[in-house]
Amino acid sequence: MAVVLDARTPLYAAAALPELAPAGSRDDEVERLRAAVARARAQLLRIERQLAARGLTHDAEIFSAHSSILADHKLIDEIVTAIGERNLSADAAVGQVVLEWYQQFVASAHAVVRDKGPDILDIGQRLLRCLERAPEGIVTSDSIVVAAALTPSDVVRFANLGVRALVVETCGLKSHVAILARGCGIPMIAAIDSAVETIPHGERLLVYATTGAVVFHASAEEQEVAKAIRRQIELAERPVAVPLEPVTRDGVRITLLLNISGLSDGRAVARIGADGVGLYRTEFDYLEHDRWPTEDEIFSVYQRVTDTVGPGELNIRLADFGAEKCPAYADIPINRNPSLGIRGMRLLLDREDILGPQARALARLARQRPLTVLLPMVDTADTLTAATEALCRIAGCRDRDELPFRLGAMIEVPSAAYDVDTLLERVDSLAVGLNDLTQYMLAADRDDELMEVYHDALQPAVLRIVARVIRAADAAGKPVTMCGELAGDRKLAHALLALGARRFSVSLAHFPDTVALIRHLSLETLSATAEQLLRKTSGKAVRAFLARQK
Ligand code: PEP
Ligand code: MG
Repeated sequence: MAVVLDARTPLYAAAALPELAPAGSRDDEVERLRAAVARARAQLLRIERQLAARGLTHDAEIFSAHSSILADHKLIDEIVTAIGERNLSADAAVGQVVLEWYQQFVASAHAVVRDKGPDILDIGQRLLRCLERAPEGIVTSDSIVVAAALTPSDVVRFANLGVRALVVETCGLKSHVAILARGCGIPMIAAIDSAVETIPHGERLLVYATTGAVVFHASAEEQEVAKAIRRQIELAERPVAVPLEPVTRDGVRITLLLNISGLSDGRAVARIGADGVGLYRTEFDYLEHDRWPTEDEIFSVYQRVTDTVGPGELNIRLADFGAEKCPAYADIPINRNPSLGIRGMRLLLDREDILGPQARALARLARQRPLTVLLPMVDTADTLTAATEALCRIAGCRDRDELPFRLGAMIEVPSAAYDVDTLLERVDSLAVGLNDLTQYMLAADRDDELMEVYHDALQPAVLRIVARVIRAADAAGKPVTMCGELAGDRKLAHALLALGARRFSVSLAHFPDTVALIRHLSLETLSATAEQLLRKTSGKAVRAFLARQK
């Protein structure tokens, strides 16, 4: 069933929440509300300062006005009264009171007041987000969510609710929203123009994620066909007793690891016979909290993940915050261009309050089992050195050799790829993040569906830099793993194997295809073509060349 989200939806959903159970404590709800108001005001202050610092004083004033409404007590006092008198949860009280205010604003005879309607909705939505209960009320395990845009936290929440599928107007296939949806096994279709306006709320939908089609007003016959396809998929997805090994036709065993975002896809490692975890994107764990988790909380998650993953290889990346990967409670700077701002390792170096608990939890885990800590978005040797020093200080070690874990650098920024020899002297392994590396090499936003055609890792420039990284790592005798959604692309995996890649980390959805591709290819033939491949001068020529190799 379609659930269409618009600006008022979260408020309607909250307003419709049931009354507090008799035992429900109103005092607790008032306390939750006060905490949410404090969080919302901190966010607004941050936005206001950022805009003011850029000289956008008028824009800053909008958020300062939102902040004043929250500080002024009138709105908040009314919400507190609603909690007490109507016996409501904080969420329901916010929903009801904000919608009442909105009605009064839009009914006003004065245009200035009417124009403030969207502001009051924005404030209400922010409060709900800070209460951490966005549109859950109407989204259930039966839902197909249709939305203009989703955040990674939305996907985590919807995955926990067990939604059937996602249909989004925006969002690139290599965005974190898409990655999370794949990891959580939720079929998703992106870049469906005007989906929110076109798809009727409450309609039964058929979603064909592989072909990118959404059908509504389906005939009985179409519904039968869809059911038959579903049955076939379920049969094909049944776990095989002995998973096939990723061995090439000429007998070379490729290391095939899984990208995971937490416990749910971590469970798949043993089931599908992966060699371990090549990339654990830990930042998504933080989206499940409503405040920064403590060292003990982080440690206990890692222990549970380790138990499910088993004894295989384990590469855990330090939280890669920034861009759109940012929990609601995070007081992280908003840069003019988040992709080029304080993110990844740069952010962690600025914020030992975030790095400290995670690094200590990892050091504890590393005393129980071998693991590699991956450093996200390393740009220069200076950042790498600063990161190593910070980790040593936090773990109480004199130098890198004393660290209880191995150290790996993510190669996602062109400067790191160019300076790979220097970086290799200071780490034990490399992980090439092809999504970001391609984005930064080609100046093509990975999150933007309109840039899909430009975000092309089969461009000769990208292949050459990746080949250079592989050669440098081989010469240094250190492992290099190809990570990212692109490593699951058949043509690209084919090209990377030809260029000498022998270690891949892919998402669960791409795993079976990658095994099949590896088993289909012979490295002896492929390796002989590497030089020819690197001489190609266009993406088109690369594709034509790869097509001829099959
Ligand atoms: C990448 O950039 O390719 C990568 C593996 O990291 P993420 O997708 O989490 O940014
Ligand atoms: Mg990345």
